[in-house]
Amino acid sequence: MTIISNVDFHCHTQASDGAFTPSQVVDRAYSRGLNFLAITDHDLVSGVQEAIQRAQYQNAKLLEHSEDALKDTLIKANALVTQIENGVLERSNEERLLTIIPGIEISTTWENEQIHMVGLGLDINHSKLQELIEKLKVKRTERAVGIGLKLERLGFERPYERCCEKAQEGASITRGNYARLIYEDGKAHSIDEAFHKFLRRGQPAYVKTEWVSIPEAVETVLAAGGIPILAHPRRYKISNGRLRKLIKAFKDAGGTAMEVSSSQQKPVDREYLIELSQKFELQASLGSDFHNEGIYRDLGQNLNLDSKLTPVWHDEKLQAFGLNADFKQRLVHVTYQKVEKAEKAENSDKAE
Ligand code: AMP
Ligand code: MN
Ligand code: MN
Ligand code: MN
Repeated sequence: MTIISNVDFHCHTQASDGAFTPSQVVDRAYSRGLNFLAITDHDLVSGVQEAIQRAQYQNAKLLEHSEDALKDTLIKANALVTQIENGVLERSNEERLLTIIPGIEISTTWENEQIHMVGLGLDINHSKLQELIEKLKVKRTERAVGIGLKLERLGFERPYERCCEKAQEGASITRGNYARLIYEDGKAHSIDEAFHKFLRRGQPAYVKTEWVSIPEAVETVLAAGGIPILAHPRRYKISNGRLRKLIKAFKDAGGTAMEVSSSQQKPVDREYLIELSQKFELQASLGSDFHNEGIYRDLGQNLNLDSKLTPVWHDEKLQAFGLNADFKQRLVHVTYQKVEKAEKAENSDKAE
């Protein structure tokens, strides 16, 4: 059994290390019943505009009740629902409209750790944000080229170029892109193994980078009218004591929210984040961190917020996107199986 939420504030496209174009991610969001989706690529916002345009196009089709409007398939597009335990799948076209919230995931360095911060609901054209993006682009490119050279010496062919070819023009190339390349070249049995063998600190293709500071990232997001959110706080390899120190530093810098709920997360980790969100009086956010087809992470998957918490949509900055303190997240509890591509093609043939 899993929960599908209609709100997801963290995901990636081919503008960084996501496997799908912004339009494909948006279409997937409709098929999984989302009403609010933030696009939060690493260190840039170049996927946001396409996502917004795609949602405008699909919303218009729904409102016109056009023949070409996306069908009400909720997750059936890439999975087979075998049971609905709670909630309803079917909705009217009007209930299926999707709002894209502009976002970014900024790489920062805090005490020698790489820490991610989501900026939500910001003005993507703001000059201060653009300056930060330019600065990060230089660092990202240097690092991506550096990792590429190391992988080339280890026998990979044109690694940097091939990562660029698979992503959008001007994309942020992260270790996530390289991990997929290593996996697809058969040099690791999984993405995780690619990290362990090549990409993690201490491994042969690791390149250290000094990102921007937390205060700089927070200030920039605030200047651009967005909400600074500490991303996936439990995923850093640091002790509980250091995590609390990090959260305090983030809050002291002006951070106002933290992610509490993610797709791929142990219940005990979520419990601890619920506790920290209350202790530090930070609003609670939720996001799948979806990158690619997979069992454990998908848009809206396993995202809910404990009723003790103050959800991030209490922040007035999200009013511009139609969210406010009265908003009630819609959750459907389902049991479903992912459908393999070949099988899916076969099924759709049969349907036609
Ligand atoms: P970078 O910002 O270049 O260090 O790359 C970080 C990205 O790599 C993250 O956003 C994830 O997408 C991915 N990543 C990091 N660690 C892992 C891991 N152990 N397994 C899979 N993906 C990972
Ligand atoms: Mn990533
Ligand atoms: Mn991250
Ligand atoms: Mn992410």
